[in-house]
Amino acid sequence: MEVPNTPENGSKCICGTCPTYIEGDKGFFCALDRSDKELEQKGCDCGSCALWGEYDLSEGYFCTEGKAT
Ligand code: SF4
Ligand code: SF4
Repeated sequence: MEVPNTPENGSKCICGTCPTYIEGDKGFFCALDRSDKELEQKGCDCGSCALWGEYDLSEGYFCTEGKAT
């Protein structure tokens, strides 16, 4: 399911503490689309995010695979 790009949703994002995340990256990838950075997949914490259940997300790695659809 698409994730609406709202400040409320963005504030719930936990990408910042994920092992794959690079400091300074935009985060909130499920709504904002993939990162511009070259990332190495080291685990995805999206399954622990409040938005995971709220928007019926299933794949994770939105930072490398692109936004939720
Ligand atoms: S599902 Fe993942 S990308 Fe989306 S807000 Fe949560 S932690 Fe961030
Ligand atoms: S989308 Fe998943 S893998 Fe990418 S930074 Fe967010 S929690 Fe980590």
